[in-house]
Amino acid sequence: MELYLMTWPEVETYLKRTQKIIIPVGSTEQHGPTGLIGTDFLSAWDIAKDVGQLTKTVVASPICYGMAMHHLAFPGSASLKPSTFVLMIKEIIESYALHGFRQFYFINGHGGNIAPLTTAFSECLTDKQALEFNLVNWWLQPSVAEYEEAAFGDANGFHATCGEVSVTMACYPQAFAVPRALEYFPTTAQHPWPLSPAQFRATFPDGRMGSNPSLATAEHGRKIFALAVQEISTLLRV
Ligand SMILES: [Zn+2]
Repeated sequence: MELYLMTWPEVETYLKRTQKIIIPVGSTEQHGPTGLIGTDFLSAWDIAKDVGQLTKTVVASPICYGMAMHHLAFPGSASLKPSTFVLMIKEIIESYALHGFRQFYFINGHGGNIAPLTTAFSECLTDKQALEFNLVNWWLQPSVAEYEEAAFGDANGFHATCGEVSVTMACYPQAFAVPRALEYFPTTAQHPWPLSPAQFRATFPDGRMGSNPSLATAEHGRKIFALAVQEISTLLRV
């Protein structure tokens, strides 16, 4: 049930049945030398589409850009400033709230979006309209985290993780037609956070944060994807 493939009378009819809406949100940013620039929004969007289909919930157009300032020293990365991102999220929420959507499920694929999404939710929570916000970070769902821990251990890392790379390998095999070998650098460096673009690149020269995505496979990706869809669908059915 993708909102962008519906007509307005269909949305009006839908709103008589339920006021739930799923909004996929990600980022357009480097994912190390082997991960796709679109990893975060592609994973969130694909998971959201399956959850929407299973739970008969509308899925809004994906938000493909996020808060990724620290990735800007790598070609292909684009970012909104945190304040811009908060404003954009607020105005999207306000638009949908105007038509009667009340329960918002943001299926998020990017850690850098967590703080500004939470800020936007706080700013939209008023006593005038009873809105409900659910921030669903797909990779933090317990069954997903458990699977990734068992499959990859510490080599999953924190950015360009084996888990997210596996999901994109399952969904976009054509983008992984050329195998790329990698050396593994465990993350040991202590560093402050956040880092500027240049500081990030100096600390994590190839863009990964402690991950070994050469362990990623499409097979793992299919399992992780299925777990995420199943667990998030359960959240929506409550
Ligand atoms: Zn990512």
